[in-house]
Amino acid sequence: MRFSQVVAPGRSEVVEVPDAPVRPGEVRVRTLASGICVSELPAWAEHDDAAPRRLGHELSGEIVELGPGVHGWSRGDRVTGFASPAFADTVNVDARELLPAPSNVPSRAVLGEPLACVVEALSRCGLRPGQRVAVVGLGFMGLGALQVAADRAPARLAGVDPAPLARELAAELGASDVHTPEEAGESLRGTFDVVVEFSGKAAGLKLAGDLVTTHGTLCVAGYHHDGPRELDIELWYRGVTIVNGFTGQRWRLMAAMAEGLRMMADRRLTFEPLITHTVSLEDLDTGFGYFLDRPDGFVKCVVTP
Ligand SMILES: [Zn+2]
Repeated sequence: MRFSQVVAPGRSEVVEVPDAPVRPGEVRVRTLASGICVSELPAWAEHDDAAPRRLGHELSGEIVELGPGVHGWSRGDRVTGFASPAFADTVNVDARELLPAPSNVPSRAVLGEPLACVVEALSRCGLRPGQRVAVVGLGFMGLGALQVAADRAPARLAGVDPAPLARELAAELGASDVHTPEEAGESLRGTFDVVVEFSGKAAGLKLAGDLVTTHGTLCVAGYHHDGPRELDIELWYRGVTIVNGFTGQRWRLMAAMAEGLRMMADRRLTFEPLITHTVSLEDLDTGFGYFLDRPDGFVKCVVTP
């Protein structure tokens, strides 16, 4: 098998080793696509360990070998699920952490892990038909969240992002109206029953709070790892419920992934227009670089070994 590992800040190398045996309960999955995730950017860009580091956790692939005691799966089944490290041409995975990929969706767009995170975050918001909903931060995850919200029959579904392409995609994927953060901050304060924050930025979090109406819900789901964050205590006095969109519990995520995959199969949610860039295993650094440089038209990059 071949895998990529980070050996220096912003530098990876591909290593070839003999395949590890498939253990009881595991299957070997040939990688068809492995998503590059913004959450792994620091581990790549700031790598400072002496030991190389292997990354990748958004696997889409095909089963090529079954370990002892694995039932219900066959060679050739297309799957997605939790597998780490997944920047490799094959990965041995606990079969219980996989789900079948919908047959009508191309493999590069069946990324079960981020799908699960998005569906789980939205499930915490208690969305009801007829609500006014806004998504702040329309990257890959925000655009997924927007589609889940669109499926819950909102009366209004606004998308907020500084990037014109992100707003364009949001309008195509179900937003009733789209805004720059400046516009939203000026004219939409206190307008929404539910605001889902997927910006991962302090300013985005502040704006998301400002947009929630009295006794509304703010769901914090962005990836906030670059320093402390503040939440305006004024939210408290407006009766706003603050919901944590994150979970690390695997059973919750598996249930959310199953629901998300049903939505994909039914064409109620798609990652296809969001997978804008593809790189080979050898070009993983180029792929990570896209997340820093944000070239025109970029939303999400997958590795296809
Ligand atoms: Zn991820």
